[in-house]
Amino acid sequence: MTPHTTIKALYPGSFDGLTNGHLDIIERASRLFDKVIVAVAFNAKKQGWFSMEERREMILGATAHLSNVEVAQLDTLTVKFAQSTGAKFIVRGLRAVSDFEYELELALMNREIVDDVETIFLAPAKENIFLSTSIVKEVFRHGGDISRFVPPNVVTFFERRRDVAQGAAADTFSDQSPV
Ligand code: ADP
Repeated sequence: MTPHTTIKALYPGSFDGLTNGHLDIIERASRLFDKVIVAVAFNAKKQGWFSMEERREMILGATAHLSNVEVAQLDTLTVKFAQSTGAKFIVRGLRAVSDFEYELELALMNREIVDDVETIFLAPAKENIFLSTSIVKEVFRHGGDISRFVPPNVVTFFERRRDVAQGAAADTFSDQSPV
């Protein structure tokens, strides 16, 4: 019998406010793979609401029950980073049809760059299908209750951003994922 090699997957995104949708995908991936590296794309020029450190804390806090999840900063091409960590899979969440075209384009481009890293798509639970960080930010900005949409530890991170939220313009809400 051949020894079992650790099968790793990379889950990239901006995670500028972790939602139940992100956690849903992380939990599914953690059941499928030996190790899941949540790769946070932090762009210093487009900082978003939360620092790299805050995003790391949010993810680690929300995934404390999962022993095979790690967080890393993503500051290079996703596939190149996957390669450097030994991850053979990139995990992406698919919400509605609207995600599909962009995600397919991204997956094919990534394959052009590195052929042996496979992108796989996971569907979230029905109740998380319409969740996005930008929608949660919008609800928060208008004083709505976000506790149904984000893991419990994440609510405090949002509360600390009350000041940003009140002055924020709609275009601060970045939903673009990295290539
Ligand atoms: P967002 O679009 O919410 O700002 P990210 O850029 O951080 O999120 O996205 C990272 C990954 O998580 C992407 O693959 C995205 O499709 C996925 N994702 C985000 N929200 C959800 C959700 N509610 N259900 C499933 N996948 C999701």
